[in-house]
Amino acid sequence: MQFYSTNNVSHKSDLKNAVINGLAPDKGLYMPEEIPVLPESFWIDLPNMNLGEIGYHVLKPYFCPTIPEGEFKELTKEAFNFPIPLQKVSENISSLELFHGPTLAFKDIGARFLARVMAQFTRGMEHHINVLVATSGDTGSAVANGFLGVDGVDVYVLYPKGLVSEVQEKQFTTLGQNITAIEIDGTFDDCQRLVKSAFMDEDLQNKLVLTSANSINLARFLPQMVYYFYGYAQAVKQGKKDIIVSVPSGNFGNLTAGIIAYKMGLPVKHFIAATNINDIVPKYLYSGIYSPAKSISTPANAMDVGDPSNFVRIQDLFDKKLEGIKNVITGYVCPNEDIFAMIEKVFTDNDYILDPHGAIGYKSLTELLDEGEFGMFLATAHPAKFPETVEEIIKQKVEQPDRLKAFLAGKKDVEELSEDFESFKSFLLNVCK
Ligand SMILES: *Cc1c(COP(=O)(O)O)cnc(C)c1O
Repeated sequence: MQFYSTNNVSHKSDLKNAVINGLAPDKGLYMPEEIPVLPESFWIDLPNMNLGEIGYHVLKPYFCPTIPEGEFKELTKEAFNFPIPLQKVSENISSLELFHGPTLAFKDIGARFLARVMAQFTRGMEHHINVLVATSGDTGSAVANGFLGVDGVDVYVLYPKGLVSEVQEKQFTTLGQNITAIEIDGTFDDCQRLVKSAFMDEDLQNKLVLTSANSINLARFLPQMVYYFYGYAQAVKQGKKDIIVSVPSGNFGNLTAGIIAYKMGLPVKHFIAATNINDIVPKYLYSGIYSPAKSISTPANAMDVGDPSNFVRIQDLFDKKLEGIKNVITGYVCPNEDIFAMIEKVFTDNDYILDPHGAIGYKSLTELLDEGEFGMFLATAHPAKFPETVEEIIKQKVEQPDRLKAFLAGKKDVEELSEDFESFKSFLLNVCK
């Protein structure tokens, strides 16, 4: 399959080039040129498939035969290797727990898959690949852990100083090996701008092989389709119908994957684009006006995005027609105080601990579900990743999974840089292979 640029439909690329470059030369994002509808046989087999098998069938049209089918089967089995249970929270709302991977957040899924696809493509290449990633919290740890120890690839994680939690920070600043963490004196948007500028800098492009691992990379967001199918299958097994899926959103990669799953035939009724007060997309759905803003810091910090990079992909999926988008997606904005109130209420009433991001998904369903509908929200991170917020509300400790304890015991090792592009550039020229 070929992939086109969102800036120019006639600019096409093959898979390998699209994955290694991340961004198209005209600065557009790559999209699959067609979205195949899954065959009847897939739906018959779905209830008995595990995540690896679902991944293989759903992603095969995009990744094979560039990656031979046999190898791709192994790759999907390895990438999707942890459980994603659908956990009942209240009468008609369940949590799709995406946080049982190595860094306790859903980004592990895309990152583990991307690292394996990239390793496949770089085998036998003479140049070293340098992955640049800007993170508002969870991307950095997922990508760093996904690539840790992968030969021929070095990862540089840029994050805003003082704006990610200690737990998040420890998960990508303590790894060593092929992972370098860079603390930027600025915001997440500054980090994202530095990465984007590096990709557009001709001098850097001539001297280094640079690539992205943010959700702008095809091989990061496409694999996220897997759990929409898996969650749906579990809901159906539990006798649910009229399924509404709420997606706590920041850069909108996760929701893009959901919409592509929908176009491949996933029979959910509706999606909710749930945001914190960084409400650019819900505002757009309401008014038709898309106006990016500076990001505002909130307790759901992995969603603090003022100019969501993937939204253009969603617009593309609906031929840029607002009415089309509104038929499938409803916006919801959750103020900070509702995040806190929801964590407290669900802990008290349902004995379930929400993290601040999942709390936004849950809240949106309590507001928007109609009679007889079933709501599934994506629980994007484990509550133990946000102890400062969660423990103060529920007035008790959140139990830490062992893999988190191991990170916390590690020693932080970072490079410090300003938000100035020239200093970032000379840093890269000095250290990158
Ligand atoms: C990244 C992230 C989000 C937002 O996902 P997008 O794909 O950027 O919309 C939500 N919750 C958590 C915990 C995250 O890490």
